[in-house]
Amino acid sequence: MRKNLTAPLILAWTLSATAQTPDSGTFLLHKFAQNIGKEHYSLQHTEAGPQYSIDFKFVDRGSPVPLKAKLAMTQENEPRSLIIKGNTSRFSTINDSIQINDRAAFIRVDDSSYSRDLGPLAFPVAGYSPGTVQMLLLKYWESHGRPASIPILPTGAVQIRLDGDDVIDQDKPLRLRRYVISGLVWGNELLWTRTDGELVCLITNDAEGDKLEMMLEPYESLLPTLLTRAAGYGMEMFTRGTILPKAKPTAIVGGTLIDVTNGASINNSVILLDGGLIKATGRSGELAVPKGYTVIHAEGKTILPGLWDMHAHFEQAEWGPAYLAAGVTTVRDCGNEFEYINAIQGAIDGGKGVGPHIEKAGIVDGPGATGLGIIRASTPEEAVAVVKKYKDNGFVQIKIYSSIKPDVLKAICQEAHRQGLTVTGHIPEGMTIQQGIEDGMDMVNHVQYVYSVMKMGKDRSVDVNDSANQRVFRFIKEHGTVLDPTVGVFEMVFRNTKDDITRMEPAFHSLPLPLQALFSNMGMPPANADRFKPILESMSRIVKAMHDQGIPIVAGTDMGFPGYSLDRELELYVAAGLTPLEAIQTATLIPARVMKQDKVAGTIAPGHRADLIIVEGNPLTQIRDIRNVRTVVKEGQVYDPANLHGLAGFGK
Ligand SMILES: [Zn+2]
Repeated sequence: MRKNLTAPLILAWTLSATAQTPDSGTFLLHKFAQNIGKEHYSLQHTEAGPQYSIDFKFVDRGSPVPLKAKLAMTQENEPRSLIIKGNTSRFSTINDSIQINDRAAFIRVDDSSYSRDLGPLAFPVAGYSPGTVQMLLLKYWESHGRPASIPILPTGAVQIRLDGDDVIDQDKPLRLRRYVISGLVWGNELLWTRTDGELVCLITNDAEGDKLEMMLEPYESLLPTLLTRAAGYGMEMFTRGTILPKAKPTAIVGGTLIDVTNGASINNSVILLDGGLIKATGRSGELAVPKGYTVIHAEGKTILPGLWDMHAHFEQAEWGPAYLAAGVTTVRDCGNEFEYINAIQGAIDGGKGVGPHIEKAGIVDGPGATGLGIIRASTPEEAVAVVKKYKDNGFVQIKIYSSIKPDVLKAICQEAHRQGLTVTGHIPEGMTIQQGIEDGMDMVNHVQYVYSVMKMGKDRSVDVNDSANQRVFRFIKEHGTVLDPTVGVFEMVFRNTKDDITRMEPAFHSLPLPLQALFSNMGMPPANADRFKPILESMSRIVKAMHDQGIPIVAGTDMGFPGYSLDRELELYVAAGLTPLEAIQTATLIPARVMKQDKVAGTIAPGHRADLIIVEGNPLTQIRDIRNVRTVVKEGQVYDPANLHGLAGFGK
């Protein structure tokens, strides 16, 4: 960087923040807190200006995700070009080139090229990776007087703000600067730099929506601390650092109240809420509204219990408002980073964040390179220790992941049951669903584990009435096993990318732009999608057949379109042959039962938590009305979905 001695005085720390970048650096990349790869950059000083060569690569559950990039700057530290090629997740690639010349950019994205005129500011950055580009974006923002917004190339804009300082207790306290960047991925990224401007930690989300952490090599041990703080800061942005006021006594008057146990309804109902609980329910004229109650009018609308998503991964704070906006007042988190989910739950329960109740399932995987995360169990002894760690931290369930060995699975189930926890999960590789159930699993995630043991035809379709297949259903039924099918996940990955995505998700265009980009890339070319059709149809038939057997089915999304994918899951159950009421039960009554919460949740009844939704139309008549949530009440707090969607970065 050239020093301009005639420049006006600026704050000393701004100077230091734009100080020379070291000639090389390495960031350790983490997913589920596990170091799964690294990003290395080296800086060459050329005549035209500094040039960064970046080599980024992680291996996620056995799949390599390599990326190479070159970012060139001018001698004045203005961006000149970015060339980036490789993978951005296990399922997505990138191949972009951006050349900047005299207020114009020449852009190539895959096979299409175009040029764009530029204003005074523009920075080439093509997503969450590599971290080096974000580090330089931050320096660019500093050296241009911290503008409110910076247009980015090939498309979009980012907002950056300095959010505060963190002091980390070590032998010698370490002071870090905390920044928030929005616009690059869904929601807010958190970044920490040293006081000299060097990027120490970036917490972002990769192109499959998983949280990804990049740590400057010497600082890797700070990750658990920074994850905890990231959860807290991410959540506090929704409450502006204050604690939510206590819920006021509220009466919901005039709506049609549904009893989801049997579909009975009370027209023109009154529901009284106080102290976060449902006090009373009744008919208008019979149940009076006491003095001091705030009245919400619900004439013409339907009132249902708050919904449950039984397969969440709360990987960023924005899930909180996004879930509530869709009427989801409880989620089972099916695997997360230990520190992160504890801090997220702590923030929500402490009124310092906005989000659903969380029932935590603690993930555990076996040894080996294809494993996920850092909580592993290779022996029965380790299994016992893992269960204890989770139990001691308020987890109610263990989530088995794919590399667990059979003897360890048995030990986990035994110890979990001894401690009063239940066990859900993937069926470990090499095992069948019957073996997993016999080893003690109470629940299974994803219908594929049922599908894969079915007798099937040449086109891989399944006849659910086949006697061998019926035996599988009876086995599952006799063991009382619970299934969250996540049919919506399979619909998404088997999707024909040429199909109109709004047929699957009518609110698609209201999603934050980075999510729209992520989802439009998911799916298959038409010919492949055709081949997977019989599988998807079979999965639906299996769900219906299992439901008919009396096997508890619970609705879960495994993320997807935040909040809305739960609606989609219910629509798919109805398409499979469940009645709308039965579908709604999979997201209310049955989850509450299988999670042993039916004394406090799952229906609208006196003494239960005041978790309910007011919906336009009647989802019992047409399930798609479940999308029309107009008011959400969680523990007596009343939320407007439009405001919540604003917090989560959704458009209209
Ligand atoms: Zn999952």
